[in-house]
Amino acid sequence: MKQNTRKAKCILCLSAPPIPESHIFPAFIVRWMKKNAPVNQLRWSQQPNKPEQDAWKADYLCAECEQKLSKVENAFKQQIYDHVVARRPGTFRYDESVGAAVLSLFFRHLQFAMDVGSLQGSVSPARLLDDLRLKLNATLNGGADWASLYALPLDFDPQAHRYGPGYNQYLLTLDAYWFDYCLPEHDPFWIGAVKLPLLQLVFSERPLEEITTNGSHRKELAGCRIEKSGAMAIPSVSTVIMELLGDNYVRRSAEIHGSLQPLSERQVQKIRDEISKHPDPYATVFHEAALADAQIAGAEDTWVHGE
Ligand SMILES: [Zn+2]
Repeated sequence: MKQNTRKAKCILCLSAPPIPESHIFPAFIVRWMKKNAPVNQLRWSQQPNKPEQDAWKADYLCAECEQKLSKVENAFKQQIYDHVVARRPGTFRYDESVGAAVLSLFFRHLQFAMDVGSLQGSVSPARLLDDLRLKLNATLNGGADWASLYALPLDFDPQAHRYGPGYNQYLLTLDAYWFDYCLPEHDPFWIGAVKLPLLQLVFSERPLEEITTNGSHRKELAGCRIEKSGAMAIPSVSTVIMELLGDNYVRRSAEIHGSLQPLSERQVQKIRDEISKHPDPYATVFHEAALADAQIAGAEDTWVHGE
């Protein structure tokens, strides 16, 4: 989807004019999706039955800012993203470029959501956009300043029938949205959720640790938090993030399941055979997702419709 907003100035530096088209999400993510898709089509979780040529683009950044962001995005790719989509277990170190790259995803997506009118919250997002711009500029200038960012690598789990068929294929799509959250005796605050293939990212205006008093849940959250420099573990767990976003997982899974042709026994067997012949699971990731969903769909009594 292309958005031509005719902005006079770059949304980040507010000085130079923007170039006509830049990706809201890094181009390497779209490349990964195209390369690994079994059919040469992209689909977004918001409209799973509508094939798209390319990801969201808009005229937001000047050439210089675009270049700065490409640099940190590339660091994010090498330090974290490549390991996540290869589903390579282990602990991977990263530096502040990763924080800047993730922050820039939320900053650009918030602008995009404001322009297309898809925000769900009741609080004005204008202040948040200004805040994200300041933090991103400070971080790009070496000041490493961001609010609470979390990253949760996701992987298939055909045993856990929590979200119904469609969930595993949802893991491979792009999704992003914002909502406001209320803690007792606090003003509502914004939470942004960007799901890349196999990686859930969360931005929160307040630390998510404030949502729970459960010690082990806080510990899980601390393990998922993006620090100035730190390490990301694959796989990792956060009960709070999964519960916070669970409604969306259920809804999107159902949308995806509803828009895809159910697999026949023969197709399931064919996919099984193909996966077993591939020593590299990376090459069959979409097949694995389809197979996991078919397994869940075949055992419908173990999950609850529209829960
Ligand atoms: Zn600029």
